[in-house]
Amino acid sequence: MSDAKSNSAIATTGTAESSGRYRGRFAPSPTGPLHFGSLIAAVGSFLEARTRGGEWLVRIEDLDPPRTRRGAADAILRTLERLGLNWDADVLHQSNRTDAYCAAFERLRAEGWLWPCRCSRAQLAALPANQARAMGEELVHPKKCLPGSHRAAASPAWRFRAPDLDVGFVDRVQGPQSQNVARAGGDFVVRRRDGLFAYQLAVVVDDADQGITDVVRGADLLDSTARQILLQQALQLPRPTYMHLPLAVDASGVKLSKSGDAPAVWHPAPSAPVVAALEFLRQDPPAELGRAPLDEVWAWAIEHWRPSRFSGMRSGAAPAAALDKATMEVPE
Ligand SMILES: [Zn+2]
Repeated sequence: MSDAKSNSAIATTGTAESSGRYRGRFAPSPTGPLHFGSLIAAVGSFLEARTRGGEWLVRIEDLDPPRTRRGAADAILRTLERLGLNWDADVLHQSNRTDAYCAAFERLRAEGWLWPCRCSRAQLAALPANQARAMGEELVHPKKCLPGSHRAAASPAWRFRAPDLDVGFVDRVQGPQSQNVARAGGDFVVRRRDGLFAYQLAVVVDDADQGITDVVRGADLLDSTARQILLQQALQLPRPTYMHLPLAVDASGVKLSKSGDAPAVWHPAPSAPVVAALEFLRQDPPAELGRAPLDEVWAWAIEHWRPSRFSGMRSGAAPAAALDKATMEVPE
């Protein structure tokens, strides 16, 4: 993500402002069972925490009730336990966090960071700048609201006034990043018209409240980071470091999505999917490790963990076995 046309002002430097003991997290959305794509984020964030003497937390990002699938959060947690991915504190559920998001929202509003927008999704989606946007991706908003939108009776969405400057940070895998949010997508939504808080606000509030020092997640969220840094600055919250892991894609280059057809990670031998994740992350595990007991797999992985091996890698093909429902999904 870069924007050559941006002003040269640098909002932030690339170093972490937070200090103290390492604390990482894995934050899945319960839109389906854990699949190989989210397993990469789980394994990567877990190994970073374990090799740096830190804690590893799990947060269920069930912010959006229409997208949440019943039972999926429990299924994800059961799979993590079965794979030996043991977390260190109580699991946080975003659905219980409305008060915290509300407080942050009111603070931003009181300090003049927010403004109400009544543009409809259909209106914004019809703009040329939004024709190529993927489903679920934030829609570009022009500098001013679209004609006629102010007459709409519906309650507004609340947008964050993005300053026209470059936000820079150094990603620990993807290298130096820079984005001018105001020019890339415009002022962005922190509270939707239906009253739900946007992911960008929730994740910033949660990371700060959980004391997260290091965010390790999939590269599909690289583009969200500049917006999150702007919110951290406005709310005067510490900034974690960022590490965006390569995304697992299928044979046609499409990322494995929980809402798609990617099979659940539920292999009869739990070592096998962990070793497949290590292979995907270019850790070069020995062939026999896939048949070793789980504690041996983790001992090997912690001893040999080298994030430099996937430096700069944005995506990679998921192994064929990870896409095969017959091998992966074994009922309990
Ligand atoms: Zn608008």
